Amino acid sequence: MTRTRLPTVEAALIFISVAQLCTALKCVCQLCANNTCETGADGACWNSVMLINGKEEAIKSCLSPAEMRGQVFCYSSRNVSKRHCCFTDFCNNETLHLHPGYVERPSEEPGWGRLELAAVILVPSTLLCVSILLGVCVVQGQPCAYNRAHKNDVEEPLDDQSLMSPDKCLKDLIYDMSTSGSGYGLPLLVQRTIARTIVLQETIGKGRFGEVWRGKWRGEDVAVKIFSSRDERSWFREAEIYQTIMLRHENILGFIAADNKDNGSWTQLWLVTEYHEHGSLFDYLNRYTVSVDGMIVLALSIASGLAHLHMEIIGTQGKPAIAHRDIKSKNILVKKNGTAVIADLGLAVKHDSSTNIIDIPSNHRVGTKREMEGAVLADDQEGLTLTLSVSKMPQR
Ligand code: ADP
Ligand code: MG
Repeated sequence: MTRTRLPTVEAALIFISVAQLCTALKCVCQLCANNTCETGADGACWNSVMLINGKEEAIKSCLSPAEMRGQVFCYSSRNVSKRHCCFTDFCNNETLHLHPGYVERPSEEPGWGRLELAAVILVPSTLLCVSILLGVCVVQGQPCAYNRAHKNDVEEPLDDQSLMSPDKCLKDLIYDMSTSGSGYGLPLLVQRTIARTIVLQETIGKGRFGEVWRGKWRGEDVAVKIFSSRDERSWFREAEIYQTIMLRHENILGFIAADNKDNGSWTQLWLVTEYHEHGSLFDYLNRYTVSVDGMIVLALSIASGLAHLHMEIIGTQGKPAIAHRDIKSKNILVKKNGTAVIADLGLAVKHDSSTNIIDIPSNHRVGTKREMEGAVLADDQEGLTLTLSVSKMPQR
């Protein structure tokens, strides 16, 4: 009797676990209303802890099926972050610690006596440090230069902790991104941490999917393109294209991070990129008269960006040929130095030369009709005609 019942009980348990894997889960979520979020079918509860400024920061939330696909969120990395995915309701309720005996230091309430003592010691030493720092900055020209110059000395493996160290500025992070082991971009947890410490400042553009904002990250400007959750596929696609291996180029908009933020009532999807204060080429040509030399610099940089996008690089770390499919002056941004970068890669397609297949995504967005061939850019602004011929993508 018992012998026949046991397999039945086991089968039922297995069935329940499998069913739980496929259905939506309820999870603990610090950033959500009622501290609860719900995953889509095939999602997971996520529990993580990482060291930020020497302090353990725990994040508990839901992982969407899209994030589960990458799986990166579920793996831990070398003692500096611990991540854990689980698949039952509220299974992420425990608090993870990086080190077994970790005790958070209580914040001290200094009395007047201590405050005075601190002032006597701290004020002169702070003044000394500030003047030394100023001296270093003046000698080096800019704050990031020191870090970058010394990076070439030792080839050290990168981990989440060194990527997020407080002295890192954007240029350092982007440098790390192009030299990091994966070559695809920053680890997703680092992207999420960056996105969650950005303070939005003002809207700078409106596109098909919502708004583009100027934001501040550690005092530096960044651009944040905000998609609504309705356009998740477009957000996912654009982030995916920007993270194509070896895509980074001085004439292609610099990608920094992608993140999905749940504020309780709705989900915002963020795409964080470098900010260019001149805005789009369309706005720039409406605002300024461009000299012939300036126009040549612009045209050359746009052609270089497009050529890099189109070029296939063969090898294990190779890059597929990519067609933008929506080249127009509103999707090109002008940098401070008068060169341009190609932006808005949401419609781009990749060509896989081994199978001769172009990965046309299943989102509904279509490009500007005249640019669908990816062949000619022709913009007439204030009598300036900029015409570039670019190579066609291989046909199927
Ligand atoms: P959409 O996909 O909705 O068309 P875009 O990426 O083309 O969005 O951005 C819309 C507009 O926002 C651009 O035409 C430009 O004016 C502004 N913009 C976008 N990204 C940046 C950026 N990184 N720096 C400055 N302005 C930007
Ligand atoms: Mg656009």
